[in-house]
Amino acid sequence: MKKPPVVALLSSAISVQYLADAFETAQPGIDVRMGDDLGPLEDIDVAVCWFPPHGRLAQFPNLQLVQSLAAGVDHILADPALPRHLPLCRIVDDTMAAGMKAYVSWAVVQHHRGMKAYVASSDAAKWEEQPVVSPRRHRVGIAGLGTLGLACADALATIGYQVRGWSRSAKSDLPAGVTGFHGADQLDEFLSGCDTLVCLLPLTPQTQGFLNADLFAKLPRGAHLINVGRGDHLVEADLLPALASGQLSAATLDAFSVEPLPKDHPFWGHPNILVTPHIATRTDRLVIAQQTLANLAVLRAGQHPLNQIDLERGY
Ligand code: NDP
Repeated sequence: MKKPPVVALLSSAISVQYLADAFETAQPGIDVRMGDDLGPLEDIDVAVCWFPPHGRLAQFPNLQLVQSLAAGVDHILADPALPRHLPLCRIVDDTMAAGMKAYVSWAVVQHHRGMKAYVASSDAAKWEEQPVVSPRRHRVGIAGLGTLGLACADALATIGYQVRGWSRSAKSDLPAGVTGFHGADQLDEFLSGCDTLVCLLPLTPQTQGFLNADLFAKLPRGAHLINVGRGDHLVEADLLPALASGQLSAATLDAFSVEPLPKDHPFWGHPNILVTPHIATRTDRLVIAQQTLANLAVLRAGQHPLNQIDLERGY
């Protein structure tokens, strides 16, 4: 009988202990290892990663698959010793998309409808209406029309917002009511119609620092920025002047260059910045285990794994 796979759980950022039970549920008797002592390194078949320690993946001589435990892979591609001949895969999951739809819809609505003012009125027992702008007259732009961006575009169009999206390549199958833009040539036109801009790009050398002073200047005055991509999409030093000048009216931020956001960071407590601690959505632990094991099985059968990353594109 073939021995069960040996899975290494690797992270320099979080405890990955929570995944061990999910792998045991997905395949009882499986050999899951984590921490500094992984036993004989030649045993490891698959590594499941979130910010793996640099150089670690290169130490497994029989590794067959590098699996991100999330949608993004920037945290793995950052390893200069990444064994690039191996397949690198990510998780794509309806539950994750549903969580992102809920967060982004909330973030758009809470600012567009002035919900912060209602919380203050409620606390002060004041019956006070905020101006109501129809969603039809509020334009939401989504940078990144991948699995998550498309799900958010669809949800916001269903609520009634005017939705546009921007991607690298042209899209022929956008959800009803969503206008598509693509490539560097159409970026300015896209940005000029974003009363709210949502960043759902992957972090690559091309998208690092995408959210900067030049880009803010191309948005309509008073735009709302929502960053649910990665912290390094935003040039943090450019945000405060854009808010101070009124070019941006608010920012809702879920991802930061340094996480947890340091206690003395100027974003905390800023009246126009809403900070959430990278919780826009989460990957279901059982889905991580199931997709990892399914990918290993198809690789062993000589087929292509699901959701493999194009290393040249970086996503
Ligand atoms: P996908 O890989 O499915 O989609 C990426 C999209 O970005 C595609 O539409 C792609 O264009 C576009 N894109 C990539 N590079 C460029 C570029 N240079 N110019 C223009 N468009 C570009 O990613 P997902 O939707 O699954 O996830 C997006 C990101 O969301 C993840 O990488 C991760 O960083 C973040 N995330 C954040 C979470 C949170 O809780 N805050 C949770 C999960 C993910 P094209 O379609 O033409 O290829």
